[in-house]
Amino acid sequence: MENKINQIRTEAIEKIEKTTNLKELEEVKNQYLSRNSEFNNLKKSMKDLTPEQKPVIGALINKVSNELNTLVAQKNDLFYKKELNEKLLKEKIDITMDGDYIPLGHVHPLTRTVNEIVEIFNHLGFSLINPEFSPEVELEKFNFDLLNVPKEHPARDVQDTFYCANLPNVVLRSQTSNAQARQMINSNPPIKIISPGRVYRNESVSARKNNLFHQIEGLYVDKDVTMAQLKGVLNEFIRLYFGSSRPTRYRSSFFPFTEPSVEIDVECIMCKGKGCSVCSGSGWLEILGAGMVDPNVLKGVNIDPETYSGFAFGMGVERLAMLKYAIDDIRLFFNDDEKFLKQF
Ligand SMILES: [Zn+2]
Repeated sequence: MENKINQIRTEAIEKIEKTTNLKELEEVKNQYLSRNSEFNNLKKSMKDLTPEQKPVIGALINKVSNELNTLVAQKNDLFYKKELNEKLLKEKIDITMDGDYIPLGHVHPLTRTVNEIVEIFNHLGFSLINPEFSPEVELEKFNFDLLNVPKEHPARDVQDTFYCANLPNVVLRSQTSNAQARQMINSNPPIKIISPGRVYRNESVSARKNNLFHQIEGLYVDKDVTMAQLKGVLNEFIRLYFGSSRPTRYRSSFFPFTEPSVEIDVECIMCKGKGCSVCSGSGWLEILGAGMVDPNVLKGVNIDPETYSGFAFGMGVERLAMLKYAIDDIRLFFNDDEKFLKQF
C-alpha cells in the first residue's frame, strides 16, 4: 500500500508540474484529489489494515494529500496571476483612440427666456411664486371672477377659453393672472411675486398664435405703490432684457383687473423706430400689458384698497423670445425641429 501511495504521489507531482494553464491544472486536481480518485479510494480501504499499519499509512496519506494540495494551490496562484496579467495587457485602454460622439442636449429657447426673465425680476426684488398658487387647470373663480372679469365678458366664451367637458366652472387657465388671485387670497401684503407658466386659448394656430403659450405675470401690492414705480420697474426690465435702454411708449388700454391699464411698446428692435415689416411700419412693438390693480380685485381677496395699492403686469414669453432672437413663426417653438433648436 505504501508503494501504491508513493507511486500515485510521483505521478501526480509530475502531472502538476507539466500543466500550463488553469484548465489543465483543474483536470489533474480532479484526477488525483477528487472524491472518486484512486488516492481517495485508498483512504477507504484503510479499514482493512492491521492496527499497527493504520497510523503509519494514515500519516503517509495525510502527508501526500497536503503536499499535493499545496502544489496545486501554488500552481493555481501562478496561473491566475499570469492569466490576469495577460487579460490586463490585452484590454489596455488606448487613450489615443477617437471617442464616441454623444451629442449634448441643451435648454429649450422658451425655458431659457423664462429663466432669463425670472432672473431679472428676482434682481428687482420679485420672488418666484409658490407653484401651488399657479395651477394650469383652474376654477373659473380664480381665472375670471376674482379678476373682475364680468360674467358676459367675451374672454369667458368657449370660443376663447377651454372648458372641462364634465366639470362645470373648470377651465384650462387662459392667463397666469389666476396666480395673483390665489397669492393675494392666501397671503397679506407686501406681496411681490413673479409667476411664469403655460396658458391655453381656444385659437386657431398660425405663425403668430398658438393655442398653448407661456406668460409671465408680476404682482406688487403694498402701501403707496404707484404708477411711477410700475414704469420704473418695467423700463429697467426692458433695459436688462434687451441689453440696452430703449425708448418705451405707454398707451392707455383696458383690462378688467387693472385700472388704469396700459400697454407698453418698445422701439422696434429691427428698424430702430424707422418702420419695417416686423413692426408693421409703426416703429413700435407691443410687449407688455400692465396697470394698477383694480380696487374691486383687492376687495375680492380681502385686501383693503384704502390702505393698499398695487400694480400687475403680464407678458408673452414667446413674443419676447421672438423679438430678441428675430424668430418669425411661433410654431417653431413647439415643432421639435432640431435644426431650429440647435441654434440656441
Ligand atoms: Zn420695425
